Amino acid sequence: MTQDQSSNSPGREWEYLRFRLRRFGLCLIGMTVCLLLYYLGFFGTYNGPLNPKNIGKFLDAYGVDKGYIAYFFIGLTIVLLIWNWILNTFNLFRGKKLTCQVVEDDCYCQAKIVKKRQVKKVNGRTGIEYVCSKGHTATLAHFHPVKKGPWSYCLCLAMALISGLCIYWI
Ligand SMILES: [Zn+2]
Repeated sequence: MTQDQSSNSPGREWEYLRFRLRRFGLCLIGMTVCLLLYYLGFFGTYNGPLNPKNIGKFLDAYGVDKGYIAYFFIGLTIVLLIWNWILNTFNLFRGKKLTCQVVEDDCYCQAKIVKKRQVKKVNGRTGIEYVCSKGHTATLAHFHPVKKGPWSYCLCLAMALISGLCIYWI
């Protein structure tokens, strides 16, 4: 047994109790939500406003059919897939998420780029100049793109699967 497991400090017990209480609280909330959904008819066993049949009638009344649902999920998949590309393009044009690439003491400065300006070069063309918070100016800066995390990919894949099912189902 390690030191950690054998120590019986009151703080640790309190921590454990709080952990159990939180779990219990979450459990209660989960049960309440389930009961609420049950009595609203979400599981189809009770005739409430959320009964699948009633949801179907409601959607029918507004002219929503299977096609719309498929389009919705396909749209959602596309949005989930490309949101960071759009964000990155936007950031790149706005000059956000850039860090300084000027080498100082054998390593990159890495300070945030605070200004992006158009400058006239000697040959008459315009170039871009980045200014970092330490005052360096450079024509190049390092861009840090926003990347999707594993959850983002999972969600995207799930939506793609649902879209596929919807297409198959129609
Ligand atoms: Zn710098």
